Order: sequence, then C-alpha cells, then structure tokens
Amino acid sequence: MTAALTFPRENDPAAADTTTAQQARIEALGHRFDEAIALLHEVLPGFGFKLVVPPPLQNGERGRLSVSAWRRGDESARLHAAAHASDAFQTLFRSQAEEECRMQARRACRRCRGLGWYVVAGGDKAICPHAT
Ligand SMILES: [Zn+2]
Repeated sequence: MTAALTFPRENDPAAADTTTAQQARIEALGHRFDEAIALLHEVLPGFGFKLVVPPPLQNGERGRLSVSAWRRGDESARLHAAAHASDAFQTLFRSQAEEECRMQARRACRRCRGLGWYVVAGGDKAICPHAT
C-alpha cells in the first residue's frame, strides 16, 4: 500500500512483472480522484478546486499541502494549508461557511443590499458603513 509508484523502463523484465499491478494502482488513484472531485462538487456546487501536494522536504518529511476553492469570476482564492488534506479541507469548508454567513448579512443590508456602496443625494457614491 505504501510502495512508491515507479514507471518501468523499456525491456526491463523485472519491471514488467509489476507493470500490471502498477497500472491497477494508477487506475485506482484516478478513480479515487474522480470520486473526490464529485464529492467536492456535491459539497460546494459551483466551485472550482485546486489541491497542491508539494514534493517531500529534503529531510524526507512531507510538506504542507494546500487547497483552495473559487467561483468563476472571483478575483482571488484563499489557500488553506495543513499537514493533511482532511485538515486543509475542514479549514476550507469552515471558511466557506463563514463567508456565506457574511454574504447573507451583507445582502440583508437595507442601505446597499450587499453591494458595499450606495448612491447619495446628488448622485455621488458612498461607502456603506457595513463595508468599512
Ligand atoms: Zn450595506
């Protein structure tokens, strides 16, 4: 289960023995990613996702990985880093839930309806107090 994936060299009989097993593992890896992506879309519909898994550090330990989620048109996406993907995704989902609460609070603003600005007498724009 923890053996590294390797790619056999051509005409290497020893490597050929493991080719089928490796292909099965690669196929399983792809299916698990497909399942994970489908689950991400169920949990956060309308979002794109990015997962960055850095190579091991020079001392052999795993580096911190990062995840982000964004909607089309977003100007930026916040990175959530952790030692394990499960922790990074927990942080990401907690952050998205908090952002959704803030967005609903902004939409409820009677002055600007969530825009963060409104038009005052004379046609000038004013920054809504809730946005400062
Ligand atoms: Zn407002």
